[in-house]
Amino acid sequence: MSGGKAPFPLFKDGKRHDGRGPLDLRPIEMKVGILHNANGSAWVKFGGTEVIAAAYGPREPPKFMSLPDRALLRCRYHMAPFSTDERKSPAPSRREVELSKVIREALEPIVLTQLFPRTVIDVFVEVIRADGGTRTAAITAASLALADAGIPMKDLVAGVAVGKVDGHLVLDIDQIEDNYGEADMPVAGAVSLNKVVLLQLNGKLSPKEFDEAMKMAWIGIKKIYEMEKNALKESIKKEVVF
Ligand code: ADP
Repeated sequence: MSGGKAPFPLFKDGKRHDGRGPLDLRPIEMKVGILHNANGSAWVKFGGTEVIAAAYGPREPPKFMSLPDRALLRCRYHMAPFSTDERKSPAPSRREVELSKVIREALEPIVLTQLFPRTVIDVFVEVIRADGGTRTAAITAASLALADAGIPMKDLVAGVAVGKVDGHLVLDIDQIEDNYGEADMPVAGAVSLNKVVLLQLNGKLSPKEFDEAMKMAWIGIKKIYEMEKNALKESIKKEVVF
């Protein structure tokens, strides 16, 4: 959020700046198994935001890094230099280091790491186009890549951000809504477990708005979760055919 005022209305006559209604997701596409050189992979597109994720493991850990009772889960979130309007430095920023931790912590309770003591599971997420909601797209792609790698999990994880623009709550905000909005609340959840695994809030919401924003996020998460299941089914079908 820049705190500045948008040069055009972000919400007018029930519509957002891109024509969506408050509860509309951006056009979402997902593909699983897109990379040859990873154990599991996924590509996820939420409108103008695109990310790819690659998962490796469980495999031999680097020296002195293993845990005696479970696998060590490591995640890296990175924005490619070409993902933003102005070339971003390829060096990991503080934001990327923090988001890597946030994504790992969202996935850790879901991955059955206890089944693989003294191993390491790695997930690398690369944002190839950034237009808002990259952390929630990253969590969604990471969850799909882990599933594609055959790593046992309690559930799939799906994420989406709710925002407040011109006083209205809206689902799946893009970069303009994020930059000029009054609040940005990324949420990720595991639908079958009925559990929220990530919740952040930038800006201000009243307790009533917060409850409403959570409801909206959960509506989006359920839809994204169904898309994830379909993407996995598609990839299995392909494996059977070829
Ligand atoms: P998220 O992508 O999860 O919404 P932020 O709220 O931090 O995370 O960022 C919002 C949007 O701002 C990003 O999706 C991206 O489009 C843009 N952005 C973030 N960091 C940078 C950066 N270093 N350079 C240019 N744009 C950025």
